[in-house]
Amino acid sequence: RSELLDGRLVAKELKEEVRHELDELRASGHECGLATVMVGDDYSAAAYERRLRRLADALEIRYRHYWLAAETSHDEVARVVHQLNADPSVHGILLLRPLPVHVPEPQLFSQLDPCKDIEALHPENAGLLALGTPRFLPSTPASVFHILDRWLDESGQDRDRFYKGATIVVVGRSNNVGKPTLALGHARGAVVISCDEWASRSGHLAEFTLRADVLVVAAGVPDLISAEHVSDGAVLIDVGINPVTDSNTGRVRLVGDIDLPAVLHLARAATPVPGGVGPVTDVWLMKNCVAAARQAN
Ligand code: NAD
Repeated sequence: RSELLDGRLVAKELKEEVRHELDELRASGHECGLATVMVGDDYSAAAYERRLRRLADALEIRYRHYWLAAETSHDEVARVVHQLNADPSVHGILLLRPLPVHVPEPQLFSQLDPCKDIEALHPENAGLLALGTPRFLPSTPASVFHILDRWLDESGQDRDRFYKGATIVVVGRSNNVGKPTLALGHARGAVVISCDEWASRSGHLAEFTLRADVLVVAAGVPDLISAEHVSDGAVLIDVGINPVTDSNTGRVRLVGDIDLPAVLHLARAATPVPGGVGPVTDVWLMKNCVAAARQAN
């Protein structure tokens, strides 16, 4: 029997945990502030920003959003980052992706104060994560494993027995999702296989994904994973969030990277899109912001 892993429920529980952490922070006389910076008008980034704003409001986290036009220069965006670095009421800074091509991500991320870099994209934080001593766990990979851990606990499976020596295949190897997911899989003792676009282009993707006990997909390609890629009993975690316009209604809906109706019968457990990893990621970011505020005081 396949189990659908309800990310919204996991997010709700995590939100209560964060609320409790915030109560403790306030009891010690401190507040928590989050700032988001968006450059340009990307549809997904704007939707993400609205969700974060709502969540921050619900948790009474001080929230500030900076919107800059797509043509804003790199220097000007960096100036906003430096201003936020210097502001003691801001504890976490999120630079919403994608950034325009003239604002190269690595250069901008390295300007962040590492102690406010709650997505762990500054080289120092990425390095700490690679060494197994992270300052912050990047929100999406952390959510992937949080959902898995919760499922293991609830179904009475021992985490160590499940992860140690298991094969985790990660499709997509971006700096913010794929690579840190590999690091967290290694940290749990799994055998980790990384596939990117070239595994698909060379026609070998299924060879690797079929070996997965856990298949994490973060490629940004709707329905990339179909029945030919999934072996019986695999656990499927779909990170992809792809806006697709319905040709009949003209409405935009969100789909994942896994063709879930085609593979669910094969899986032991799977996350849906929407309602899987996404909601947990949002709350995890708040958790990191609270951790940053705690560390700053
Ligand atoms: P990205 O574009 O930075 O990286 C995509 C990666 O996938 C690259 O390594 C690329 O080589 C690989 N890839 C592309 N096409 C492929 C193919 N056909 N086969 C195998 N690999 C392929 O994207 P990202 O920021 O990592 O995001 C990936 C997806 O996850 C997007 O849909 C994004 O919206 C979504 N996302 C979701 C969350 C969440 O919380 N659920 C968070 C971040 C990103």
